[in-house]
Amino acid sequence: MAINIGLDIGGTKIEIIALDSKSGKELYRQRVNTPDNYPDFLSAVTRLVTEAETALQSTGSVGISIPGIVNFDKTFSKAPANLPFLRLDFAQEVEKILNREIRMENDARCFALSEAIDGAAKGYETAYCIIIGTGVGGSLVVNRKIIRGANNIAGEWGHLPLPFATESELSVQCGCGRMGCIETQVSGKYLLKQYNDCTDKPAPSVGAINQLADKGDRLAQSVMNNFYQHLAAALLNIVVIVDPDVIVVGGGCSRVEGIYTKVPALIENLWKRGKMNLNIKKAMHGDSSGVRGAAWLWKEKL
Ligand SMILES: [Zn+2]
Repeated sequence: MAINIGLDIGGTKIEIIALDSKSGKELYRQRVNTPDNYPDFLSAVTRLVTEAETALQSTGSVGISIPGIVNFDKTFSKAPANLPFLRLDFAQEVEKILNREIRMENDARCFALSEAIDGAAKGYETAYCIIIGTGVGGSLVVNRKIIRGANNIAGEWGHLPLPFATESELSVQCGCGRMGCIETQVSGKYLLKQYNDCTDKPAPSVGAINQLADKGDRLAQSVMNNFYQHLAAALLNIVVIVDPDVIVVGGGCSRVEGIYTKVPALIENLWKRGKMNLNIKKAMHGDSSGVRGAAWLWKEKL
């Protein structure tokens, strides 16, 4: 049986999955806490692979999804913020221990590949996939190939300046240090801040703010409408440059229905040239997209 193994490495958990190469059926899944030092981390990653292969009595391809920017040669220029101990040649060390070539990509790109191969973007030629969680990420997949670009930054969208923004919106400082990034109006972190800074009854999540908006809470409605408007403006840039066949939304905020019911009309309003063919869909694999996409890195058409 041919299997594709994927690992999703995060700051708190490492998850492994094994998929049947032909059917995509999930054969194995395991999750451990992320160790806080490099030797334990490296051995946890390689042990998870050998345990999966022993359980399935099969040797597979290995793909890794990881936060941060992965260089073309699978090294890092700096360790991801939530894995500060990571050695920059981590992938090469894993290859030595497992005695095979591995593939490794940024988590937003793995998410996009997962959705393009057998998720919400399956069957579409051009898919722009965004994650709206605490922060904002994006990746472009064309014909089941991740578009990386000449500088390895294609699709990176969250830290572009907000289009159609007011001066006060452009003066909000982003976590990256710059002012007025898309992330400052379109991410879970900042939506919560916008709401909770203006009330003495703080909301625990964007989902809760969305429910309050549905129940008629004025502040929640204004925060959500602001979010839809800015998301539409930010997506218009993508639509005009790439004109994707589908836009797939993942991450914690992807459950907000207004993204699918309200944002397309707002994009049309901004473009002002009549009806557009806009197809915005919710990610199919939810939280599993990262780990599935890691496994499917070996199905990417290079
Ligand atoms: Zn930024």
